[in-house]
Amino acid sequence: MQTRADFALFPSGPARYRAPMLQLTVHATDGPARLGQLATPHGEIATPAFMPVGTAGSVKGITPDQLRATGTEMILANTYHLMLRPGDACVERLGGLHTMMAWDGPILTDSGGYQVFSLAHLRTLDEEGVTFQSHIDGADVRLTPRRAVEIQHRLGADVMMQLDECPPGEASRDALLAAVQRSAAWARRCREAWDAFDRQTAHGRRQALFGIQQGGVHRDLRAESARALVALDLPGYAVGGLSVGEGHQAMCEVLQDIPDLLPADRPRYLMGVGEPRDILAAVASGIDMFDCVLPTRNGRNAQAFTWDGRLKLRNACHSEVAQAIDDRCGCYACRHYSRGVIRHLFMANEMLGPTLVSLHNLHFFADFMAAIRQAIAAGEFADRRAAWLEEMYGSATA
Ligand SMILES: [Zn+2]
Repeated sequence: MQTRADFALFPSGPARYRAPMLQLTVHATDGPARLGQLATPHGEIATPAFMPVGTAGSVKGITPDQLRATGTEMILANTYHLMLRPGDACVERLGGLHTMMAWDGPILTDSGGYQVFSLAHLRTLDEEGVTFQSHIDGADVRLTPRRAVEIQHRLGADVMMQLDECPPGEASRDALLAAVQRSAAWARRCREAWDAFDRQTAHGRRQALFGIQQGGVHRDLRAESARALVALDLPGYAVGGLSVGEGHQAMCEVLQDIPDLLPADRPRYLMGVGEPRDILAAVASGIDMFDCVLPTRNGRNAQAFTWDGRLKLRNACHSEVAQAIDDRCGCYACRHYSRGVIRHLFMANEMLGPTLVSLHNLHFFADFMAAIRQAIAAGEFADRRAAWLEEMYGSATA
């Protein structure tokens, strides 16, 4: 089965416009789970894919060569952090994000909305946008749909995200409904701004815009949100506002509706989700893309992901263990260092400790996604998912 969506908007334009903006090819399905390839102006990635997070224009402690060697194909950078420091105009003058990050693969930027709603102080929200106080110098900063698109146009990622309102996990149904409606209105304004920039980055590369579904755990609000976004005919769609404390089961119920709500020929991206069992549930509901800080944040805290679950490498029990983090792992850390040595590096506050465990975790996530893709290709996703859950969490229904 193959479905294709090509946003060939400038078929007679200069050569650079003829590169695909974004094109998803679905090679195989196993239930709603799908194996595909996403073509971007900076190359193709295999899906389902995991994107490590380079918050401020750097995947912490990891060089691009090391990142590439983990099997990573696409990365994410945070608009909120970059707009405040060094500033979007500065990133543009430095050559754009690909130059700044020394990364020639695809990049996605979020809109900044999530960080504004979760991190920033003294927010005021109105129909036109949101004003917040910079955590760096206390200055008032205004973010509107048009401004969010302008910033991301200057940053120059392959995919930009609409500005959306991200209510907290405990928000009432009324608050979630208001967020769905406001986010839909902002999606329309983002689309207009994206059109006004000719759907290109400041450096003349084609740039896709994704809408973001909201609605909390209310399936009718999720459906309303999806309908409004799909009417805008965007190159891709994201599911936002999950993994905010609703619990695994509630997340699974929301995700079950996704194959019916979001078009099959566009990439579907579940934002901010990286727990392996959540990734498995989302893939089972037809999600193609993920991002999360877990591999690098946990790596910096000496916590390693393995096929047998997590390891806390600061624990004294590892101090004289000559075995690698995971004997089955082919990453640089597992080929060259033992658990005991890595524990020592953390205890001695050596920079190499966080780098090695981050490298291992990034390699694990890339391997995990590759194993998921193989399972879909073999038509064995449900069985292997149950086996992985058993190994990692001790229960096939975790
Ligand atoms: Zn490893």
